[in-house]
Amino acid sequence: MCSRHLKLRKFAIGCLGLSIICSMNIGYASASKVDADSSSEGKPKVAIIIDDFGNGQKGTEEMFQMPVKITAAIMPFLPTSHRDAEIAHKRGYDVIVHMPMEPKTGKASWLGPGAITTDLSDSEVRKKVEAAIDDIPYAIGMNNHMGSKITGDERIMGIVLAVCKERGLFFVDSKTNYRSVVGLVATQKGLPPVNNHIFLDDTHTTSHITKQLREVEMWANQNRYCVTIGHVGKTTADTLRNRIPQMQGSVEFVGISDLVKEKWGWNASPMLPSNNQ
Ligand SMILES: [Zn+2]
Repeated sequence: MCSRHLKLRKFAIGCLGLSIICSMNIGYASASKVDADSSSEGKPKVAIIIDDFGNGQKGTEEMFQMPVKITAAIMPFLPTSHRDAEIAHKRGYDVIVHMPMEPKTGKASWLGPGAITTDLSDSEVRKKVEAAIDDIPYAIGMNNHMGSKITGDERIMGIVLAVCKERGLFFVDSKTNYRSVVGLVATQKGLPPVNNHIFLDDTHTTSHITKQLREVEMWANQNRYCVTIGHVGKTTADTLRNRIPQMQGSVEFVGISDLVKEKWGWNASPMLPSNNQ
């Protein structure tokens, strides 16, 4: 990695805590399917992943109103997990499983149900990953919720990625740990070593998110693509909706599946037995 990359990277220390407070009953049914961003062929690609769907948090409805295709990372076994997956799919978004994983520090209550922790046996890890994939319809990939401890654990990530590969899913390293082994293990297993480059909203202010979006634009223009992660929330949604039309002058917004297909030639389809229809 060159120094320019290091300078640009803005990683949050951990994923935002997920409050298990729910659940808003919002009508999304009228949301129409988003069009592919076909106006900007040949431009650098940007994949926006929005984490922490599934809990009916504020900003959920706004996230379903983006003018371009984004990727919804949905936590399993939560009150609106299934509903959010259905709406995201209907809207034309990519759906991925947002897999709760133990962090080095942080509250266990932020993990959410079905989490992977280092005390689990190999077979227990496998069961948790399979159950999470089964719980999220339309999932074509997975990323980690928190997970600074687990993504540095070669034993566990070996099992997680083996299950992903069996099920036709790729894994996006959210990069909550600088010493993550995910890219290495993914390459060993023949999976695309895709990871987050820039966190959008480790501070929830319009000015910070706007600044991070400028960095996304710079990163994409220097490297031809950029993966960026934000979280369900009204400020993030509003800032994205304001900034996306301006950014379309220099970048193209794509789903994470479009990016891994183009960059790594990843064509696997989710496989049975599974609920990801
Ligand atoms: Zn998360």
